[in-house]
Amino acid sequence: MDILVILGVVIILVIIGVTWYLTRPRPRCPECGSRKVTILAKEPLKSRYFEYPSGGPGGGGGSMQLVYKVKFGCRNCHHVWTKEITETN
Ligand SMILES: [Zn+2]
Repeated sequence: MDILVILGVVIILVIIGVTWYLTRPRPRCPECGSRKVTILAKEPLKSRYFEYPSGGPGGGGGSMQLVYKVKFGCRNCHHVWTKEITETN
């Protein structure tokens, strides 16, 4: 019984870990496809207040959305590019 509970917890943790690993943002170099990418610069472009429609999660409300201009650099082929990313607080 105990070993089954431990096994169940381990399986759940692995599923959470794999889901997190697959959904987290992983920038890739558009030139060579390498994942050895570093963020060279990150500057805020604009921010806006995003309002949930009433009856949504938490019964309405809203959150701040920040748009950043991020400069990436590839450590493999030294290609540099910029991308706009949105972060929700
Ligand atoms: Zn590259």
